[in-house]
Amino acid sequence: MKDLIIKNGIVYDPLNGIDGEKKEIHIQDGKIVEKASSDAKVIDASGMIVMPGGVDIHSHIAGPKVNSGRSMRPEDKVPECNLKKTKTTRSGTGFSVPSTYLTGYLYAKLGYTTVFEPAMPLLEARHTHEEFMEMPIIDKGAFPLFGNNWFVMEYVKSNEIEKLAGYIQWILKATKGYAVKLVNPGGVENWSWGRNCESLDDPVFHWDVTPRQIIEGLAKANELLGLPHSIHVHCNNLGHPGNYAHTIETFKVCENIEPKSSVGRERSFHCTHVQFNAYGGTNWSDFQSGASQIAEYVNSHKRLSIDVGQVVFTKYATTTMTGDGPWEFALHHLGGTSVWGSKPGTKWINGQVESESGSGIVPYFFSKQIGVNAIQWAIGLELMLLVKDPYQIFATTDHPNGGPFTTYPQLFKWLMDKKSREEELKSMSQKATTATTLKDIDREYTLGELCIVTRVGTAKSLGLRDRGHLGIGAIGDLAIYNLDPNNYDGLAIEKAFSSAAYTIKDGQIVVKDGEIVASPMGSTILAEGKLKDSVYDAVLEDVKARWRDHYSINFNNYAVQDVYAPKRKTVISV
Ligand SMILES: [Zn+2]
Repeated sequence: MKDLIIKNGIVYDPLNGIDGEKKEIHIQDGKIVEKASSDAKVIDASGMIVMPGGVDIHSHIAGPKVNSGRSMRPEDKVPECNLKKTKTTRSGTGFSVPSTYLTGYLYAKLGYTTVFEPAMPLLEARHTHEEFMEMPIIDKGAFPLFGNNWFVMEYVKSNEIEKLAGYIQWILKATKGYAVKLVNPGGVENWSWGRNCESLDDPVFHWDVTPRQIIEGLAKANELLGLPHSIHVHCNNLGHPGNYAHTIETFKVCENIEPKSSVGRERSFHCTHVQFNAYGGTNWSDFQSGASQIAEYVNSHKRLSIDVGQVVFTKYATTTMTGDGPWEFALHHLGGTSVWGSKPGTKWINGQVESESGSGIVPYFFSKQIGVNAIQWAIGLELMLLVKDPYQIFATTDHPNGGPFTTYPQLFKWLMDKKSREEELKSMSQKATTATTLKDIDREYTLGELCIVTRVGTAKSLGLRDRGHLGIGAIGDLAIYNLDPNNYDGLAIEKAFSSAAYTIKDGQIVVKDGEIVASPMGSTILAEGKLKDSVYDAVLEDVKARWRDHYSINFNNYAVQDVYAPKRKTVISV
């Protein structure tokens, strides 16, 4: 591969203190270097901005529920999303749940080079990796689900945190996972009995543990291992009016848990798609925003980060999908989608994965004219604009739950341009104005701040030191956008970020002028903690002894073989 030199671009590299400076970037053998060879290919980025490649911390792109979403919705394959095969690309389709190859291409076109799938059922991890193998260009990682797992609840109940850490270590190896994910801790297990957990102290049936204990136990075990990312939590009560207070109570559970000092991470807790957990009011008729209370907590506590889960209004329905079985059951009964001539809530899937987790899928159409949906849209933006430190909040749509990731450029426009926000606000139900504080917020993101909430902060939160910046030794993952940093409006922002002028992956140009020009396969990113061998061995003995009570398959058929992640990078705790 030829060396690359990017000249004349205005560079944003906040981690290295560069906030819009003309600077050359040199790449050799896939990495950023001081000086490339004299015969390097030169990219003239005059009139353009240069950033590290985008890093998405939370996007449902692969695995059994994603694929069920594709199968259950043939109507999602709208003609304008069909991609014809070319010399470089395979064909693909899908609006809210794109096919595997298309997912890789679409992310690359937006200038994103790393994406994390945040809900991998352990038993079905192989499916997630099979899809990763068919997803070109981007690097991928997956978070295994721990919040409703029987082994986890056994160790939490007996307060064996070291053994819990050993179990996490084994699962990360066996499933080729990256971080500890909790979805509605305890609630999904209770849902197997037709119930849920509505408070942090509701008991989980038959296990004599509570959501509070599960969260605390997993957070402590996570820090014992020193994993690169903190625990990644989808709270109880997602989607319900008045849930903001519960969300803040959940933040408090980990308030005093310090990140293991050697990992160099400031946070011990990440709360995901908080828009869906930032609701005020007591029912759907007095539904209102609880974003300012959430932001106030985040602004005064440095040990947590959040991502937003922004709602975006789209022409077609999206496909909501989550490991939160009881929530999808509730959403199905709330109405689901009314598009495509189907009756409200006609389509619905709920699933249970043996002794581990659950899931659900419901198509949903966010409408500007529905008060609750308009308020949800405004809450996401309130969170993004009221949280002061961009290293504590990240841009996501919880793809495809709040909308497909392809709508990110619209979110960027609303963050960076108040006028665009006001125009959008006028076009929807007045509830977004009366039941939230959005109209009173003047803040507009700078390009440096946008860079942090889309790549720098996410890479840092994930503990990925080789990306999210453009310093010497970083991988050559870059995005170049056609935008004049001194003169832009909302339209220019949306246009520039919709279609990267160049995306460079590991030093190779993969997108030019918004078109895919090369389609290499990215890596799967794994994580490993530090633990005594004796603990690990004892846990394996426990797991084997209890296996028959927990699973219908053989122990030897459980782990995902190396062949399912042919190109791997493992982040090992220090
Ligand atoms: Zn999610």
